[in-house]
Amino acid sequence: MARASFHIAGVEVKPGSRQTVEVPVAKLYTHTPLHIPVEVVHGRRSGPVILVCAAIHGDEINGVEIIRRVLRNASLRHLRGTLVAVPIVNIFGFVQRTRYLPDRRDLNRCFPGSESGSLGGRIAYLFRTQIMENVTHIIDLHTGAIHRFNLPQIRAELKNPETARIAEAFGAPIILNASLREGTLREYADSLDIPVITFEGGEALRFDDVVIQSGVRGVIRVMRALDMLPAKATRGKPPKRSEVAATSTWVRADIDGIMRPIAQLGQRVRKGQKLAVVADPFGEMESVITTPVSGIVVGMNNLPLVNEGEAIYHVARFDELDEAEKAMDYFRSRFDPESTEAVMPVHPWDDLQK
Ligand SMILES: [Zn+2]
Repeated sequence: MARASFHIAGVEVKPGSRQTVEVPVAKLYTHTPLHIPVEVVHGRRSGPVILVCAAIHGDEINGVEIIRRVLRNASLRHLRGTLVAVPIVNIFGFVQRTRYLPDRRDLNRCFPGSESGSLGGRIAYLFRTQIMENVTHIIDLHTGAIHRFNLPQIRAELKNPETARIAEAFGAPIILNASLREGTLREYADSLDIPVITFEGGEALRFDDVVIQSGVRGVIRVMRALDMLPAKATRGKPPKRSEVAATSTWVRADIDGIMRPIAQLGQRVRKGQKLAVVADPFGEMESVITTPVSGIVVGMNNLPLVNEGEAIYHVARFDELDEAEKAMDYFRSRFDPESTEAVMPVHPWDDLQK
């Protein structure tokens, strides 16, 4: 029996075809309609329906490029199941280059939303009824906030075994078993029992090629693990790609001042080790920031001007720190600066590109 067509926003996508669908969400003041562009690749053979979406925070643009590259992947010709790709969820924020919606709400706190709620609530409602509720798996692509750079990492609620399986399959060096925050896409998907993972990598308003490449590979690996794409022939023992963190801690500045970072992203640090120095412009009053835990640096502030209390380093703690370091070493070894699709090497990744 032939596979049924896929229906989205009143559009029919036939098996073995690919189509861009404009899902109407709102209008500008000018009465110009706004659409969320969605690319549907509907395979000839049946299988899971995976949603890969990005820029629910409008300034988190690495995911937009990850999706563009995934959609160019030649193996999609052999797709089993359906790929629903949404590169820009928060259209308003993306156009304005901001995380938020015009009413300053965070769209990723507006789920499940409602037909008659705030702007964010209405967009969340449309997004989930038109798109999310028709899928079987979700990968939500994020970056750190502005001036905050995240090491490529997966955040997932690992209690759901299928979520844990795709989190592992993605192959980011670090997995944070992150609890669900109210109003997020991830929490809502989890409440529907849809396995969902969040990828975090890089920082807002920047492209980072290592992050983008690791995101592309991760999405493809998940699709392979779900049997949506042909598996790659592998020989021998699989490499140590990921390690699950026990907890993570943000280390904060204890004075206002100018920060000189010492620890690098992805570095293993031991309890009490120096992460950065914060000082006044003449360097007379200095404060050495140390880590209260041993672990791996998974996020850092890139802006040297800091206020007391500001989060400057994110350190993940592991039960098996040696295993986490192995995953980091493997990750570093995989990235080739001569990549044909290199965008730009960006601080502080220079050491990882070698
Ligand atoms: Zn985000």
